[in-house]
Formats: sequence, structure tokens, C-alpha cells
Amino acid sequence: MKLRIGSSYDVHRLDKGEYILLGGVKIPCEFSTVAHSDGDVIYHALAESILGGLALGDLGTYFPPNSTKTKDMNSFEILSFALKEMEKRNFKVNNVDISLILQRPKIKTYIPQIRKKLAKELNVDEDCVSVKAGTNEKLDDLGKGLGIGCFATILLIQE
Ligand code: ZN
Repeated sequence: MKLRIGSSYDVHRLDKGEYILLGGVKIPCEFSTVAHSDGDVIYHALAESILGGLALGDLGTYFPPNSTKTKDMNSFEILSFALKEMEKRNFKVNNVDISLILQRPKIKTYIPQIRKKLAKELNVDEDCVSVKAGTNEKLDDLGKGLGIGCFATILLIQE
């Protein structure tokens, strides 16, 4: 059995808006992420962690910011791309651990829904998808609520 570990970090600024997307789940709030695509930090970090595990470089190589290709893009397409690259190499997801850093909005009640959706998309059991969220203790820009950060660590297996 071959194992590959991958990790990534993504961050987007927050501005006034009506909702944010986390793992494709719409969370109504007075903010939205500032992004060229739809600004879904979970999908971006997750997709890049898969590419990382396969040593395929960064997300920007495949989805350049400021290109017409990625303008207002649904970030599920980005995850789908990474999953296809993984499948081509006969790997599958073993488990993933996601850590969000955000001061606002409150997302705790949405976490079960995000895990359930990601488990389906990654083709794993729900207990193989961890989604955690914490604040930045009011330190730095994330702590001031100016953005959302997301770390993803993933284990890929090839049998
Ligand atoms: Zn991003």
C-alpha cells in the first residue's frame, strides 16, 4: 500500500455581502469573500492538498487567478479537477482534516452539513472528514475578522 500526505492553506479577504461558501455550503451572513472565483476556502485548500500529496504543484498553475477561465468559477470544479488527477493515479482519499480560522461569521451549526457534503464528494465515510473551526484570538487580520483562513491536511492511499 502506498500512502501520500498533502497539505495546503488558503485565505480570502471578507467584505460586505450576503453569504459565504464553505465546502459548497451557503452560509448566510453580512459578509462575502473577496475572490476572483467564488472564494470557497475549503474547496481551494482541499483541492490543493490533493495536488500537494501527488506533488503536482499549486492550484494557481491550473487555475490562474485573474484569468477568464476562473472568473466567478464554482469551486467544486476545482475540487473535481484535483480528484480526477488523483483517480488517474489510482489513489483514493483515506481521510482529511480541515481547520478553519475565522472570527466571523459563526459557522458551528453548519459543520455537520459541510462534513456530510464533503464525505460524499470525496467518497469516504463521514468520520473520515474532520472540519474544525477556531478564531485567531483577535490577533492579526484574521482575528480582526477581515478574512477567512483554511488549512487542509489529507491522506491519500493507493492499494
Ligand atoms: Zn482561494
